[in-house]
Amino acid sequence: METKYIFVTGGVVSSLGKGIISSSLANLLIARGYRVTIQKFDPYINIDPGTLNPYEHGECYVTVDGHEADLDLGHYERFTNVRTTRANNVTTGRIYQSVIDKERRGDYLGKTVQIVPHITDEIKRNVKALGNTGNFDFVITEIGGTVGDIESLPFIESVRQLRWELGSNCVCVHLTYVPYIAAAKELKTKPTQHSVKQLQEVGIQPDILVLRTEKHISPEMRKKIALFCNVAPDAVIQSIDVPSIYQVPIKMHEQHLDDLVLKRVGLPVDGEPDMKAWLHFLDKMAYAEKEVRIGLVGKYVELQDAYKSINESLFQAATYNDRKLKLEYIHSEKLNDSNVDERMKDLDGVIIAPGFGQRGIEGKFVALKWCREHNVPTFGICLGMQCMVIEFARNVLGLTDANSTEMDHATPYNVIDLMEEQKSISNMGGTMRLGAYDCVLSDNSRAAQAYGTTKVSERHRHRFEFNNDYRERFEQAGMKCVGENPATRLVEVVEIPEKRWFIGTQYHPEYSSTVLSPNPLFLSFVKAAVDYSEDKNK
Ligand code: GLN
Repeated sequence: METKYIFVTGGVVSSLGKGIISSSLANLLIARGYRVTIQKFDPYINIDPGTLNPYEHGECYVTVDGHEADLDLGHYERFTNVRTTRANNVTTGRIYQSVIDKERRGDYLGKTVQIVPHITDEIKRNVKALGNTGNFDFVITEIGGTVGDIESLPFIESVRQLRWELGSNCVCVHLTYVPYIAAAKELKTKPTQHSVKQLQEVGIQPDILVLRTEKHISPEMRKKIALFCNVAPDAVIQSIDVPSIYQVPIKMHEQHLDDLVLKRVGLPVDGEPDMKAWLHFLDKMAYAEKEVRIGLVGKYVELQDAYKSINESLFQAATYNDRKLKLEYIHSEKLNDSNVDERMKDLDGVIIAPGFGQRGIEGKFVALKWCREHNVPTFGICLGMQCMVIEFARNVLGLTDANSTEMDHATPYNVIDLMEEQKSISNMGGTMRLGAYDCVLSDNSRAAQAYGTTKVSERHRHRFEFNNDYRERFEQAGMKCVGENPATRLVEVVEIPEKRWFIGTQYHPEYSSTVLSPNPLFLSFVKAAVDYSEDKNK
């Protein structure tokens, strides 16, 4: 079968959820037996989002092959269970870098290098790269930004050209917003009409419109939009606000989004997508009544996208444990010895978040000391694990002023230190320990029990590591190094076996957790939190 290409653009405003619509469509096509991948083209100049502050762009997601990626790739994986790679996320910066490298090599044979055709050709080459592997029946391409942005013009122009080249193997889906004006008690279609017009001006006629809305859009209104926008009435679909993003595939299927796409590319529409496992998850979500209260200690708590993958992993784990997740953000900068008891006493489990730099770090030590002394299920991730080690060094080993050399160059006890390979690196972009690495777990560790195996592979994003010179002293005092990289002996997992559940991972298990394949450590952590809450109530 020839690869089919689906393009998803957005108009009117940003943050409409193009990533969720793309993921939902992929989910349905996969449930119909097709091989699908989703890629995102981001119109900014950064080579990748790895150098962006979470305040700019939310969480930085990491792929198995070590690419620092847009957080939408996290949605893609959580909805499809299909791993993404560097090829699934391309920025304007990557496109220009590649064209400029070719120019320097002399590949353009003396020609003037221009946006059209050289930049657009490079974009098209990247759009088709995954399709050309032969591994996918459908490649869904999400174009970041909104139609009409200066930055996204070369991408939109490339879609226009591809539409011609691909003919019936191409579908254009445009996502817009239908605002509800409360004073007039009316939904308004004009912004959608304008947005589609803008798309038509650059030569693209959408095949399917998805309208993001807070209220139900009547069939008459959909007909009107269809008429004004040159789209078939049944190809105008609403995406109404729902309590959980994981319900969106079902909402899309009810309105035949998958059927519309199949028809458009000339594939048979027979039978129904197999959504059994997905619906099982949604059922658990609907029937969960009791809560599990998890605290997340970090410094980006005012920003809901900064810890996206952790939130989703916790939500999945809570759902599979038949609990509603009650997630409480605890600002690490505001936590101190005098308020920690008040902030933490009702929690069933605590996550110590990843991060960079000194800000907020002392609050993480306060939280960790409290959790350790009160034997609350505690999960440290990346910097959170490093903080577990530092807190233990200071308060159990008596190594006052122990630290990571990230925070204090001159610490007398560098229990967390820079890896040798990192010492000569001066460039910030793409130079951390990134991507999936093998980890061997000790036989009887709680981590190995959680995974049900001693051999795992999880994704990393950090420069600093546990300092093996201190290993003996930690182990003797009760903090065990139970996960190790088999090639380098770097410590990947620590735990205090005598505690209820006290585990830190140098890697980020949240990146590999999906709806249909939730991460075992998160499942085990939430299970421990549930057990602890039941013990407390006895
Ligand atoms: N700042 C720490 C390091 O670079 C941890 C990074 C993280 O939490 N992702 O090692």
